[in-house]
Formats: sequence, C-alpha cells, structure tokens
Amino acid sequence: MSSHSNTGTALITGASSGIGAIYADRLARRGYNLILVARNRERLDALARRLADETGRTIEVVAADLNKTSDLARVEAVLRSDASITLLVNNAGLGATAPLLASDIEKMTDMINLNVTALTRLTYAAVPGLVARGGGSIINIASIVGIAPEVLNGVYGGTKAFVLAFSQSLKHELADKNIRVQAVAPGATATDFWDIAGTPIQHLPGEIVMTADAMVDAALAGLDMGEFVTIPSLPDIADLHAYEAARQKLMPNLSRQVPAARYLGSAISNVRAH
Ligand code: NAP
Repeated sequence: MSSHSNTGTALITGASSGIGAIYADRLARRGYNLILVARNRERLDALARRLADETGRTIEVVAADLNKTSDLARVEAVLRSDASITLLVNNAGLGATAPLLASDIEKMTDMINLNVTALTRLTYAAVPGLVARGGGSIINIASIVGIAPEVLNGVYGGTKAFVLAFSQSLKHELADKNIRVQAVAPGATATDFWDIAGTPIQHLPGEIVMTADAMVDAALAGLDMGEFVTIPSLPDIADLHAYEAARQKLMPNLSRQVPAARYLGSAISNVRAH
C-alpha cells in the first residue's frame, strides 16, 4: 500500500506498455487514482489489476483507439466530466525511423493524428475543467527529435516539435491558472516503440538507450524540481538554459517593420538588374 495521500486522478494515454505503463506504476505509488487509456484492453486490465492490488488505488480502464474519432470523443468526454482528474499524461504516440522517400504518407498521417491531433484534443478537453477546479498538471511526452528532427523520420520529429511548441504556449497561457505543464523529451528508450517504428532497439548502440524505468523516474524527478522541459539524459542543465536563453534573445527582433540590413543590399541590386 502507498503511504501517499490521494492526489486526485491521473489520466494516462498509451498506458498499456512502455513509458505509459511505468508512469501508471509510479503515479499509483505517488497516490493517484488512475484512468488508463490505450487500445489493448487485456494489457490495460492486467496492469490495472496489479496496480490496484499493490497500491490500493482505484484504477479505471478505457480501451480506445485515439485515431478513431468516436473513441477519441469518449476519452474527451471523460476528461470533461470527471471532476477528480488533476493530471493528464499525454503519452500515446507513434514513431518512425525511415526517411521521406521510404515512408508511406498514410502512416505519416496516422502518426500526425495520434501525436498531434489526439494530444491537442485531449488537452483542450482537460484544461477548462482543471482551470475551473483551481489547478492541475499536464505532462506531454515529446522527444529529443523535437529539437533534433534530423535524427529519425522527419514527420515524427515534426510532431514532437509541435508537442514542445504547444507545451511552451500552454505554460505561457496557463501560468496564472495554477496549471503545471511539463514537456518530457526522452532520448532512445527501451520499449516496443522501436519495433513499431521500424528499427529494432538491438540496432542502436547500447550507450544511447535508457530503460523506461530510469527515463520515467528521471522525468518525475524533473517534475518535482519544477522543470518545464525535462531531457532525462542531458548531463548539464546549463546547456538547456543556454538553448532557452538563445531563444529568448531572438524574441524582441522576430517581428519588425523593416527587413534586416543584410537583406536590403541584395534587394537593391535585384532592382538594378531589371
Ligand atoms: P510503446 O511501448 O509503443 O507505447 C505506445 C503506447 O501508445 C502504447 O500503450 C500503445 O498502446 C499506445 N497507442 C499506440 N497507438 C494508439 C492509438 N491509436 N490509440 C491509443 N493508444 C495508442 O512506446 P513508448 O516508447 O512507451 O512511447 C510512449 C511515448 O514516448 C510516445 O509518445 C513516443 O513518441 C515517446 N517517446 C519514445 C521514445 C523511445 O525511444 N521509446 C523516445 C522519445 C519519445 P496500444 O497498442 O494498446 O494502443
């Protein structure tokens, strides 16, 4: 049994395996009741039974394919109506490793639907209730490819860049509403993800692969430390601060009446050439 007091209910998407299943384990032990969402009901039921036995928490299962509009709407309805929800973990996601010329656009579209559209709709369903109840938390599972889209499939990187940008905006918009937002950017993590994405994990050098347990424990430590972006493998947090400082330095000059001086010379010579 957990010694923690109940901290409300966490809804976790993609909880049937990998990173999401570890979040379920850790959050139940932190005192959360859980709503577990994924397609595979058998795996969700088995996890729910084990965690209910081990922690005494109330664990509910919602079997749903977040790429099906009607299933997604059912999960959105839960987020809108269950006033015990204090935390949304947007974790369900799909990846790919092949480049554009070897990729199928239908699979890319499914990935965008799950990684971007479902995550966005679930966030929109959850936020008004959290705000009305005086606060809550959202954990969005992004990826290091959101910062480094050259590493894997570009559409996958693009979806995770969306997660990072959307999280940044949520943090900004909800700062005075007592809503905590954390974007987690894991590197390679040992889960089923890699088989589904098209590159078995055994093909990666061992020194870049983290266990899902270590990844989630580090991400939760980052949450406890109040981090907005958590990159579990980054040794020196000063590097992330420097990245953010460079972004902030750009901000005052991103929109101005006149083009930068370096573009004016070529415009003048183009006019002269005609
Ligand atoms: P995983 O073990 O394959 O887990 C993916 C989860 O998403 C599963 O629970 C899966 O369950 C669920 N899911 C997939 N399609 C779904 C759908 N259409 N509707 C509902 N649920 C769906 O992979 P993972 O590594 O734990 O991935 C979790 C998140 O971490 C993803 O967002 C991924 O992009 C991110 N991430 C992973 C890594 C990595 O190296 N593993 C690195 C960075 C970021 P069902 O099959 O039962 O639906």
